[in-house]
Amino acid sequence: MIKLNQLTKVYRTDEIESTALNEVSFEIKKGEFVSVMGPSGCGKSTLLNILGLLDKPESGSYQFLGEEVSHLNEKGRSNIRKKNIGFIFQNFNLIDELTVFENIELPLLYNKVPASERKQRVNALIEKIGISHRASHFPQQLSGGQQQRVAVARALITRPPLILADEPTGNLDSSHGNEVMELLCELHEAGTTIVMVTHSPHDASYSERIINLLDGQIVSENKSKLTQAVI
Ligand code: ADP
Ligand code: ADP
Repeated sequence: MIKLNQLTKVYRTDEIESTALNEVSFEIKKGEFVSVMGPSGCGKSTLLNILGLLDKPESGSYQFLGEEVSHLNEKGRSNIRKKNIGFIFQNFNLIDELTVFENIELPLLYNKVPASERKQRVNALIEKIGISHRASHFPQQLSGGQQQRVAVARALITRPPLILADEPTGNLDSSHGNEVMELLCELHEAGTTIVMVTHSPHDASYSERIINLLDGQIVSENKSKLTQAVI
């Protein structure tokens, strides 16, 4: 699904150059659940932004679903993004002025799905994640755990083959964090590919593989503890 070859990203501001990713190469197969870990500033967010086609690399190759996407312009990237990638952020990124229902519906509007189908799909998903009684509430009326469940639903509503999650439990207490991780595990079991940036070894233990970054380079890859325990 994802194949990076010697991917490099340099940020340039005035005279300062900063190499955020330095010739990174790896592959992620369809259906894998991968964590990306490493200290602050090592390039995790940059990597997620490039994988999610929000940003462009300086050099190197990125093949997504068999297609070279590293040189696409914003329009080309956004077409692929809308159909194939769901995002989950640490601070939920819900729109405060829209209800739970409307937040989850938004990606379907962007994809021009007809109203009757939108209604049916949003209601089915809201039911599945246990927040039907909150459909007409606004994000600020929900607990953090509930807001992140809404954000997960918004990421899933278009049934994208790839979910990218940036510290999805970073603003949650451990019990709500575990609920969100369990939701991600269900998605993984249903065949969705997940790439998650996390500082938490506990969260990473839910994934199958951990990519460790340091100063923009991969320093090691290992199977997560949970997978090892099962083997
Ligand atoms: P992480 O997510 O692991 O904390 P980032 O990907 O945010 O790391 O950052 C990697 C490096 O790139 C850091 O040195 C950071 O300062 C730099 N960087 C990130 N974003 C920008 C930007 N927009 N402009 C300039 N430098 C940036
Ligand atoms: P859950 O376990 O259902 O995710 P919590 O246990 O965190 O939710 O919260 C218990 C109840 O209090 C829930 O119905 C939730 O909506 C409500 N609640 C929690 N935080 C807030 C808040 N900041 N504002 C309004 N209601 C809240």
